[in-house]
Amino acid sequence: MAVYRGTVLWFSGEQDVHLVEDGALVVDESGHVERVARWDELTGEQRVNAVQDYRDDLILPGFIDAHAHSGQVDAIASPGGDLMAWLKDYVYPAEAKFRDVDYAREASSAFLDMMLAAGTTTACVHTTSFKTSTDAFFAAAKERDLRMVAGKVLMDTGAPDELLDPSVGQAEDDCRELIERWHGEGRALYAMTPRFGPTSTVELLRMAGRLYREHDLWMQSHLAETRDEVDHSLERFADLKPRSYLDVYDQCGMVGPRSVWAHCIWTDGPADWDVLRSKGAGIAFCPTSNLFLGSGLFPLARARRAGVRVAFGTDVGAGTSYSLLATLNEAYKVSALQGDHLTALQGFYLMTRGAAEALQLEDRIGGFHSGAEADFVVLDFAATPVLKRRTENVGDIHERLFALAMLGDERAVKATYVMGRRAHPR
Ligand SMILES: [Zn+2]
Repeated sequence: MAVYRGTVLWFSGEQDVHLVEDGALVVDESGHVERVARWDELTGEQRVNAVQDYRDDLILPGFIDAHAHSGQVDAIASPGGDLMAWLKDYVYPAEAKFRDVDYAREASSAFLDMMLAAGTTTACVHTTSFKTSTDAFFAAAKERDLRMVAGKVLMDTGAPDELLDPSVGQAEDDCRELIERWHGEGRALYAMTPRFGPTSTVELLRMAGRLYREHDLWMQSHLAETRDEVDHSLERFADLKPRSYLDVYDQCGMVGPRSVWAHCIWTDGPADWDVLRSKGAGIAFCPTSNLFLGSGLFPLARARRAGVRVAFGTDVGAGTSYSLLATLNEAYKVSALQGDHLTALQGFYLMTRGAAEALQLEDRIGGFHSGAEADFVVLDFAATPVLKRRTENVGDIHERLFALAMLGDERAVKATYVMGRRAHPR
C-alpha cells in the first residue's frame, strides 16, 4: 500500500465534487485506488507508509485528452493556412514519415513522454495510415502501461496516394489484424479511425461502422471542424441524402457509445446535439487547434446544456500544446467570447471524470473511487513565480484552483503516476 498526502480533488459526477484539503490518496499494491481519506483519518501505521508528501500540492486523476495525433508529433506549430491547406502542406508529409518503422517507434515514444510530462495519462489517438505506425504506438503505450485508445487512420480518397488504403478490403484486413493484436491487450483499446468525410468513400465509412459494432470498439473521427469540410462532405455523400454531416456518419453506423467526434463547431444545431446525446456519443473540444487554424468557436455551454458528453482535446499537431491546462485556458477564453465563464471545477471535471464519461471509461479512470486505476497527476501551486505569487495570497481554495488552471502548463506538473507508479519525471 502507498499513501500520497496532499490536497485531493476528484469527481464522481459533474455535481459530485470531492475536495479534501490535507487529504490522502491510498493506492493498493496492484496499482488501484483503495480510497481517499482525510490525513487525520489515517492510522499511525498508514501515515508511516506515506511514500510521498505532496502537502503543498494538488492531486488529481490523470488528465484525459480526447483527441490527438501521434502522427503529427513533428508537425506541431507549422505555420500558415486553414485546415485543408495545412493538411496538404504539413500534415500529410509529416505522417508519410511514419512509413519508416524506426522513426514511428521513436516518435511514438516521444509523443507519449510529452503527454506524461503534461499530466495526461489517457488519450484518444489517431496514429497514421500505416499499420506499422499503429503497432509502434501501442507498443510504446504498453511499455508505459498506459490506458490508450488508438487506431490506424483510414483514408481511401482525397489525400496523397502514399497515405491511402489501397482498397476497403485491405483496410478491413489491416484493422482486423490490429484489433486482434491490441484491443484489450494490457490497457490498450482500439478505435476505428476514419480521418473524416473528405478522405473517405461511403464503403470505407460503412466498414468502419461495421467493425466498431461487431467488436464493441471505440470510434473516432473529425466532425464539422470547418465550414468547407461540411460543404465538401455533404457534396461527397449527396447520394445518402443526409440531413447533416453527422447524419452521414450515423447512416454508416458510426455514431454510438464510445464514439468521439473532434471539433463539432459547424454541426447542424439542436438536431445534431440530440443525436449525439441520445446515442451516448462524445465530443472532443480542441480550442488551441480551433484558434490556431481559425476554424471557429465551439459552443461549449450550448452543447453541455443539450446534455452532450464533452471532453477537451489537445489536437496536437493542429493544437499548440500537449498540456490540458493550457487547453483549458483557451477553452475558457473561447467560452468567454460567447458569454459563458467556466469555473475551475468545471474545467477540472471536463479534464478528468467528464472526459472519462465521454469515452465511457468512468468505471476505470478519471476518478478516485475504490478500484479505479491509479493514474494521477500532482500539480504544484508554486511552479512558476507568477503562479506562486498569485496562489500564495488567496484564502479561497476555488480561487487558487482557478489561478492554477489558468496559469498552469507542463511546468505545473510535479509528477505523473500510472497505475500507482511514477512515470514522470522518471
Ligand atoms: Zn485532429
